[in-house]
Amino acid sequence: MPDTVREGGCACGALRYRVSGEPIFVNNCHCSQCQKQTGSTSVVNMFYEAEYLTQLSGDTSRHVVKAGSGGDHVIVRCAQCGTAMWSHYPRLGEFAAGIRAGTLDDPASVTPDAAIYVSERMPWVTLPEGIPAFETQYSPAELLPPERFERLKRLAAKAAGR
Ligand SMILES: [Zn+2]
Ligand SMILES: [Zn+2]
Repeated sequence: MPDTVREGGCACGALRYRVSGEPIFVNNCHCSQCQKQTGSTSVVNMFYEAEYLTQLSGDTSRHVVKAGSGGDHVIVRCAQCGTAMWSHYPRLGEFAAGIRAGTLDDPASVTPDAAIYVSERMPWVTLPEGIPAFETQYSPAELLPPERFERLKRLAAKAAGR
């Protein structure tokens, strides 16, 4: 088990979680669906193997919306206050969790690997220097360090065999 450990929680404090190791990747997504779901300009999600995510307290509620690909995107929220905590996306399903970085106790401890779907961003949003930006998606094989790309491939293989 990797030694980096981060904790986070919802706005009311009932739902707490711990996540171990470094994320496989961190995306700052500006797509119109993320804008709608968050009511904001974009979302920052850190993707982990679901087994590295431990729920410490609280109850969750699950909300299913359609992903851009047409599959089911499951948003897991605090049952008490409704804060969106993490998501399961169609391709990797329940094997992976895309955790909202803003729910971390120390959100500054992660930096996005990429800004994605910047073609849909609100016109006044300025993109940060030093973070690669993509009109839509990127190729993980090209962007991610080999060790993290291997983790992603293992997850994709698991999800394909479910
Ligand atoms: Zn809550
Ligand atoms: Zn998005």
